[in-house]
Amino acid sequence: MTAWLALIAFLAGDPEFLKGQLHLHSNRSGDSDTPPADVVRWYASRGYDFIVFTDHNRITTLPSTPSMLVIPGVELTQNSSSCTPPPPPGLRCLLHVNALFVSPSAGGIPWGASNGTSRDAIYRRALDATGRMNGLAQLNHPNFHYGADGPLVARLAGEGLALLEIANRSWDSNDVPDDQRRPSTEAIWDAALTAGANVYGTATDDAHHYFDARVAGVRGEKVFPGDLGFVMVRAAKNPPAIRAALARGDFYASTGVFLKRIERIADRLEIEIDDRSPGPHHFDFIGAGGRTLSSADGRRASFALEAARGGYVRALVVDRAGRRAWVQPTRVRPP
Ligand SMILES: [Zn+2]
Ligand SMILES: [Zn+2]
Repeated sequence: MTAWLALIAFLAGDPEFLKGQLHLHSNRSGDSDTPPADVVRWYASRGYDFIVFTDHNRITTLPSTPSMLVIPGVELTQNSSSCTPPPPPGLRCLLHVNALFVSPSAGGIPWGASNGTSRDAIYRRALDATGRMNGLAQLNHPNFHYGADGPLVARLAGEGLALLEIANRSWDSNDVPDDQRRPSTEAIWDAALTAGANVYGTATDDAHHYFDARVAGVRGEKVFPGDLGFVMVRAAKNPPAIRAALARGDFYASTGVFLKRIERIADRLEIEIDDRSPGPHHFDFIGAGGRTLSSADGRRASFALEAARGGYVRALVVDRAGRRAWVQPTRVRPP
């Protein structure tokens, strides 16, 4: 880019990637000791541009700080011991949906009537409530008690589900099950994408501990710390712009890898590592059925879209320490 073009891009206000958190809890959840104002302070000090509060069945609203937007949301938490299909022995039906960017109403959560005990009906009830609050829906931790599989995610994507948590960094989210007959959250995502669903993958903390994380660990408690999984959204720094970028997949999910550039140029997808992430990285370009279409090592990689004709391509970037970034899928039309 010439200096003039760079200047024009700067003047035009080309948005940069904003660091955001889509899943966190405060003491308004009942399973965290941290007051909401301390949660805000904790994330603001870690360079976040925005956070969304997602307390269990409770909308928490707080003013934004000069550096960080604070956005209302709620984790629509439906827990029961039975649903259809039933959970594996010893597990429960813990079916959770984050309603993000909600317009809080005085009357609490606008739950509709329950429409049976099928997993579809339970999740749909949460999507309906999200719609009534004008929220953006994210299906949380699909492998926590095996809440949702690929076909179910694909059905819900046709009914308002926008986001799928593929990396929930709490210790019990079970993103990659020990039982290898069970699909990972990424495999669930690929199954939904292969079925034609448009659903974008997120990484989140699901944090419950902040300033108290170390002390809780010393006490021998299970700790749910923060700043481990986040999204990087290409948008101007205001809630409607961020929400729109999430809804159209203009973001990447990360557990610590930062990207400088994700660009579709003519017939290629190009990705470049940001200076904040040192060293070479491994790139996998993944398509229908979760198949790896090509791989590369280095600080940038390019994929010829031709190789994903009639399907999609998404990218997974891994650094030497195992940190990851997930680039959202691009659909490639059939010939
Ligand atoms: Zn949950
Ligand atoms: Zn949660």
